Amino acid sequence: MDLGRRDFLLSAAIGSIVPVALTPHALAQGMPAPKPGERKLGYAIVGLGTYGLGVIIPQFVNCTHSRLVAVVTGDAAKGRKVAAEHGLSDKAVYSYATFDSIRDNPDVDIVYVCLPNSMHAEYTIRAAKAGKHVMCEKPMAISVAECESMIAACKAAKRKLMIGYRCHFEAFNLEAMRLARAGAAGKIRYVRSEHGFVQRDPSKWRLKRALAGGGSLMDMGVYSLQAARYMTGEEPIAVTARESTDRSDPRFHEVEDMIEWTLEFPSGAIAGCQSMYSANQNHILLMGDTGRIELEPATRYDGNHMWTGRDGRERELTPPPGPRATQFAGQLDHLAECILTGREPIVSGEEGLRDMRIVEAIYRSAREGRTIRLDGRA
Ligand code: NAD
Repeated sequence: MDLGRRDFLLSAAIGSIVPVALTPHALAQGMPAPKPGERKLGYAIVGLGTYGLGVIIPQFVNCTHSRLVAVVTGDAAKGRKVAAEHGLSDKAVYSYATFDSIRDNPDVDIVYVCLPNSMHAEYTIRAAKAGKHVMCEKPMAISVAECESMIAACKAAKRKLMIGYRCHFEAFNLEAMRLARAGAAGKIRYVRSEHGFVQRDPSKWRLKRALAGGGSLMDMGVYSLQAARYMTGEEPIAVTARESTDRSDPRFHEVEDMIEWTLEFPSGAIAGCQSMYSANQNHILLMGDTGRIELEPATRYDGNHMWTGRDGRERELTPPPGPRATQFAGQLDHLAECILTGREPIVSGEEGLRDMRIVEAIYRSAREGRTIRLDGRA
């Protein structure tokens, strides 16, 4: 069976594909637009690092319902420079010490936390207490307990909490999800996902346990774990993990380099996932009983590729253009739209918490050398 897009559409047309329930992703894409004239919601970006400054801030030009209104940084001169470049006054620049006074700035609707992982909980909770909605980067935090306190703080303040899981707005991942749900590869039996990059500098916060909460799993491993869950559409019932780290390497004195884990799903599907800090990789493979869907690179900012086939990469697919210019604009506007229309984000705090429960189980399984059940069974 050829699983090319043309054939997929053909089989859909002749009715051989099981109708798909409207997934949260479909709902997100088809969300009613905020009313005409409704103002753009204002974001304050906390942390002007590689991601906050280099990736997110340039994306507001692609947004329909979101705009940059403030920055929070430990470097006042950098903050003033970024503000000036984006037409903001010096008053839009906050330090970590003055952050709480953001409550008095009515232009700020949403605080976007782009800080090291161990600071996510503190700034999310402070933002909620200041009356702001929150977009928090992945991983949501460094423990289940922190995630729970973030959700509780946002609930108490009646504010929305969304996790920066940008792949839920990325065209190739959305198309692969759609194809998988529509049965284009048959019944999904096996998922593989590996993510990693080479960490060279031992002084980086990502290699410090207190700031990162862990190693490659907390960073790139979140993509492998997320992919296994959103591609199967199932929640894992058990996990078995194994870690391999050269602890004599100065980069890995505090955190793991390579970790692999197997997830078992209720349908019988298995996911083999992995992350590492000593090789570059970015891959998702779905194997069904009639074919396969493969993405490589799978979750990059751009330049992703996708193939379908029976035994290998037989046909390359380009997803249809989505409603958003980029995955980042989709992500930023989604939270703004949820606030304007009173919906819950498709990647809410609960979604980040679900991942963190599995992350803790992965570490525990690797430590104790045994399978950890996630479904409450002994
Ligand atoms: P970075 O090191 O480039 O930036 C971190 C920012 O935090 C800097 O502005 C730094 O000054 C500030 N900071 C404040 N206190 C700090 C401290 N004690 N130590 C170190 N930095 C401190 O990191 P980044 O790559 O921008 O990552 C930030 C967050 O964004 C992380 O949680 C990361 O997982 C996430 N991220 C997500 C994606 C994605 O694709 N969704 C990509 C990259 C990073």
